[in-house]
Amino acid sequence: MVATLSVPKVKLKNPPLRIHRMGDKVLRQPAKRISQVNDEIRQLARDMLQTMYSADGIGLAAPQVGVPKRLIVVDIYPDKPEVPPLVLINPEIREYLGETVAAQEGCLSIPGVFCEVLRAQGVVVSFKDESGRPRTIQADDLLARVIQHEIDHLNGVLFVDYVENELLLDQELRKHGFQMQDVQRRANPLAAPALEPR
Ligand code: ZN
Repeated sequence: MVATLSVPKVKLKNPPLRIHRMGDKVLRQPAKRISQVNDEIRQLARDMLQTMYSADGIGLAAPQVGVPKRLIVVDIYPDKPEVPPLVLINPEIREYLGETVAAQEGCLSIPGVFCEVLRAQGVVVSFKDESGRPRTIQADDLLARVIQHEIDHLNGVLFVDYVENELLLDQELRKHGFQMQDVQRRANPLAAPALEPR
């Protein structure tokens, strides 16, 4: 039997899960691999999708809802009911493609804060889907960016960690009630040296 994960793309007043914010330790904890894709995992994915749609998000990682497991959900078409969302279990980036691209990012765990981050234009990513079936896809542009951002969450990394301009970041964080001390500054591995050409 093929499992289906049909979740209406609507905003609930009381979403099933609470989204943890930067400063909360669970966001810095590396997430564990999922050994079996079972009903419990599918229910978690469903609850995460409902929580994500309710918060106007296009991606959500399990650590953001306090569950340190390697599961992310992504839907870059929240306004298109006919397009199914992606559920990625134990996702691994196999290849980075194309140029590195700078664009603004935000995060449901750091609401209000937007900063520019470098990401690869495309990625090849392998994962298990909600039926437990192994899949490999190529993602480009916004989808690739969201997948890179969400996989970072599984490793305890937040997008603000990559921001080089400390003054600007500090300002932006304070404005929205966050603190610089919760940032774990690190070099973006894509920043330099340049990626090998495709
Ligand atoms: Zn995020």
